Amino acid sequence: MKSKYDKIQQIISNMKQPDYRYLQITNAIFRVRTGEFKSMSILPVKLRNALIDELGNSICCISPALQKKSDQVGKVLFSIPGGERIETVRLSYKRGWESFCISSQCGCGFGCRFCATGTIGLKRNLTVDEITDQLLYFHLNGHTLSSVSFMGMGEPLANPDLFDALKVLTDNNLFALSRRRITISTIGALPGIYRLTQDFPKINLTFSLHSPFNEQRSKLMPVNDLFPLQEVMKALDNHIRRTGRKVYIAYIMLQGINDSAAHAEAVAGLLRGRGEWEHLYQVDLIPFNPTGKTPPGYRQTDRTKINRFKNILRSKGINVTIRMQFGSEIGAGCGQLYGCQGD
Ligand code: SF4
Repeated sequence: MKSKYDKIQQIISNMKQPDYRYLQITNAIFRVRTGEFKSMSILPVKLRNALIDELGNSICCISPALQKKSDQVGKVLFSIPGGERIETVRLSYKRGWESFCISSQCGCGFGCRFCATGTIGLKRNLTVDEITDQLLYFHLNGHTLSSVSFMGMGEPLANPDLFDALKVLTDNNLFALSRRRITISTIGALPGIYRLTQDFPKINLTFSLHSPFNEQRSKLMPVNDLFPLQEVMKALDNHIRRTGRKVYIAYIMLQGINDSAAHAEAVAGLLRGRGEWEHLYQVDLIPFNPTGKTPPGYRQTDRTKINRFKNILRSKGINVTIRMQFGSEIGAGCGQLYGCQGD
């Protein structure tokens, strides 16, 4: 039994209550936005009490410890059971679109050299409820969950509970999120990529490349020794062939490290000649966000060089965009999340 929604079904069944009670409860949470069992007056008192005894009164098992806001970005630091902290970022766009960047692990054990989250090490995987409650919190507070990306703390495909969380997020009685509005971002965890292709082919996939050169990529991202770049590229080719969906290649631009013309040529070389569907690769260039926790030596590439990199890729026929940068001023940008109140 992975999620609180499974447990609710079990409680209903143990008490020999009719099945429709489950729909009454999920309607109360997801349509009426009721955040406490004791407010579900539609339920018999004994069922309400049993739910509270088993699960606690609050539907959400994580609580906000600190919130920061800038123009279009909000960052919430949540306390999770065990006294740890995780972070979730909300981006608001004009016309009411709201996008959420959620965490899948507390800390991260992969140790990418430029990443603030990686400096913490892995504390633990988040449970299904801890992953989905980051969104439930916003839903209960009246927000619209337009799109969700797993780009917060941790490597989502290293957490086996991720797939149960995706079931909860896409369940029509629960969050009912369209698969096309969910993005998984990975550093190349091969078993997880294979499973995603198989079980959730419509979910968007982003691969963090950051260097086209094996030796350098291994230095920047030690996971490259475990799951080598060429093997990951084959898995991504397979994903595109099987799903017909775009794969996004994330490339954080690091001053003087991976932003040269030779790097751009090599990225183009990596993505050309892969097959008739190679146009479904899309490169996103991401300006780097330094933090107080980033190891020295990693700085942001200037805009002229980012444009030069983009132009080289474009001249080779590669689809490429420069990702807009939000939230770096409140420590909510890519690679800036590390669960600390001070940043
Ligand atoms: S970039 Fe992702 S996988 Fe690498 S250390 Fe940071 S959170 Fe972990």
